[in-house]
Amino acid sequence: MQHSFSRRQFLATMGAAATVSVSRGAVATNAMLPEGSSASSEKPAGRIVDMHVHFDEQNPNFVDDLVKVTEPLNVTACVLTPYRSRMVVAEAAKRHPARIVPFGYVDMDAPDAARQAEEFHALGYRGLGELEFVKKPYTDPSYLPVYELANRYSWVILFHTGIVLRQKFEEPEDVASYRMRAFHLEEIARRFPKITVLGAHCGNPEYEWAGEVARWNPNVFFDLSGSTLTKMRDRLGDFRKIFWWTGTKWGTKTPEDDPSAFVKLVFGSDEGLDGIAPALDQYRAMFDACDVPAHTRKLILGGTLTTILGLTA
Ligand SMILES: [Zn+2]
Repeated sequence: MQHSFSRRQFLATMGAAATVSVSRGAVATNAMLPEGSSASSEKPAGRIVDMHVHFDEQNPNFVDDLVKVTEPLNVTACVLTPYRSRMVVAEAAKRHPARIVPFGYVDMDAPDAARQAEEFHALGYRGLGELEFVKKPYTDPSYLPVYELANRYSWVILFHTGIVLRQKFEEPEDVASYRMRAFHLEEIARRFPKITVLGAHCGNPEYEWAGEVARWNPNVFFDLSGSTLTKMRDRLGDFRKIFWWTGTKWGTKTPEDDPSAFVKLVFGSDEGLDGIAPALDQYRAMFDACDVPAHTRKLILGGTLTTILGLTA
């Protein structure tokens, strides 16, 4: 099941879009934000990498719109691309190397999934994602050939983790969130140490499993996209209970040897192009609530992925 409709359309039909934007507005004007930290008004000094931007096949001007939105924010977007749009995005990434890093969406249950991954690689794609709606748990042996290729390419893979939206209400659908639980990423990270394993949505609601898997696996990170930062807007400090091991011996190697447990997070928006700036505000509100150090914030917002992806443009 690919993104044949946009998440925005889906939310709109569910009547949820209004709720999301209202709560986002509340976060953006939250007094906890330090002065001048609003993403919409600030031009950050360092590059921001947004790991979670779905290519919108419904928007014929998507690439131009993306460049317009990301340039003033200094954002490089990892564009998660359906196989049928692979040429358009490969070409756009060549034209806008500072704005677009191409990622390929592969239906893991397709009989030619490995061949699709090879083709994405030949076109210059930097990884896969967002893998989701799998028919079997992520660790199923039938998926190993794709992971073997990704390991050979030293690729980054973005996996959906946790609760997933329902697309059909009248017909049966073969979708189950448990197949995408965050703890499955542990086995993939250990079997394939050259893959950088990214979990979207921090395992919502199993944040604790996500945090623990990230803690012991240097090649695992999570983004906080989706409903989590909205759900927890009044208790963002609770993330300290999930990312708890700062300053203890209970962690492992981290980017730039950063000692904060929060360094296991990366930035992802997953809300369409006009959702990037509000998602940055939400991340920053969480940073403030949890006293995340400045150095760690930079790594989360872009430093970690800039290094892993070797971004220079
Ligand atoms: Zn997802």
